[in-house]
Amino acid sequence: MTAPVITSSTPAGPLPHLEEPRGGRGELPHDPGFAEFARTHIAPRADGAYRAEILDRLSWQRLADRGLWRVGVPEHLGGVGGTWRDLAERIADIAREGDDLGFVLSLIAHAGLVRALVEHGGEYHHRTVLPSLMKGAVGATALTEPHGGSDVARTRTTAVRTPEGWSLTGLKDHITNAPVADRALILGRVPELGRRDITLFLVNLHSPGVRRGPAEELLGLRTSPTGAIHLEDVALPEGAVLGAPGEGLRTLYDIISFDRALYGLVAAAFLEPRLDEVISFTWRREAFGQPILEHQYVQGRLTDIRITIEVARATAMAGIEALVAGDPEASLRCSVAKLTGSEGLVEAAQNLMRLHGHAGYERGPLTRIVQDALGTLIAGGTTEMQRKNILNQMLAHHRG
Ligand SMILES: Cc1cc2nc3c(=O)[nH]c(=O)nc-3n(C[C@H](O)[C@H](O)[C@H](O)COP(=O)(O)OP(=O)(O)OC[C@H]3O[C@@H](n4cnc5c(N)ncnc54)[C@H](O)[C@@H]3O)c2cc1C
Repeated sequence: MTAPVITSSTPAGPLPHLEEPRGGRGELPHDPGFAEFARTHIAPRADGAYRAEILDRLSWQRLADRGLWRVGVPEHLGGVGGTWRDLAERIADIAREGDDLGFVLSLIAHAGLVRALVEHGGEYHHRTVLPSLMKGAVGATALTEPHGGSDVARTRTTAVRTPEGWSLTGLKDHITNAPVADRALILGRVPELGRRDITLFLVNLHSPGVRRGPAEELLGLRTSPTGAIHLEDVALPEGAVLGAPGEGLRTLYDIISFDRALYGLVAAAFLEPRLDEVISFTWRREAFGQPILEHQYVQGRLTDIRITIEVARATAMAGIEALVAGDPEASLRCSVAKLTGSEGLVEAAQNLMRLHGHAGYERGPLTRIVQDALGTLIAGGTTEMQRKNILNQMLAHHRG
């Protein structure tokens, strides 16, 4: 099946319309309302969004209306304050109750951009871009190019200076939210800077010279559209650079660390209700004259899922706390969380499937979890790249 081309104006598609719950809009963003909203609004639409292979834009907008993207953003920038841990917890609530892992991966991509603008942005980002991202515009972070995604420093996207600012040309691929996004952080290089030339640019994707590819056909995560971004002599103002010209890699490692920790946290939260469900199933299902829960190998699979939840959550929180505290080992910890979370999620997804026997292999919610989980091994950087980062960070902090 060919995935539909989706633009930012594409309606949410044939999904059930749901009334706003009582007390919906205007509720304080720090209350548990996001979990409730995910349960009553996102989860019932998840299957329809998956079949239509689209991001659930209606739920996206409702979350913005309820103040999700103001959590963690300082008040003087239009937010409600708090820390990035608060935002991470809200996203975990949505992962736990929303039944839509793809949607949550799109949230992670957006969260990374919001944090990046707050932490590394200047006047242009804070005044021109951040307000729209808090109100429902969709963000993306574009590093990967057709020749490779792991070795981001080999980017071929190039910027040259112009009297007004910059002109950016290049091609990005497999970018979460790209088919529907309004703004993207683009990694490129400025050759005139010499050896240290990697630079981050904030691009309005509705600008002349920007073209988006169609949503890619993926094994899973079909509610999180990925695609290409073509940039041809895209004119950018001077202030579009995030951080300093030539300092893009250093800034980038801080930005992607938050995304990586979120992968771990979301993996744990997503698995929590699935573990409850499968425990109930193993009580009900009988083999050899007793509930399958009585069999030790079954108990082992359940225990492994719980261990994944505990380890992924703990390592993710350690990563987020380290980022908030400015700990130099934050990047290492966030890579541990990403690795633990995505590998554990894949193993847990298989355990959920196996525990249901043939029913687990029938196309449906359980096979969808396996398909979705596999994507998390690659999105956000592969396991090999997390290991490489852990080693590099470890050696950098080793005192000899
Ligand atoms: C669902 C999804 C969402 C995505 N969203 C985004 C996004 O929002 N933004 C974005 O920029 N990209 C995104 N990507 C792309 C993703 O980041 C890249 O696919 C990933 O970084 C790997 O790059 P690659 O596919 O080019 O593989 P390659 O870099 O070509 O790597 C191929 C294989 O070689 C291994 N490898 C490479 N170098 C080494 C090494 N030194 N040591 C050991 N093994 C190595 C890799 O681990 C991998 O197994 C997304 C991908 C997916 C699947």
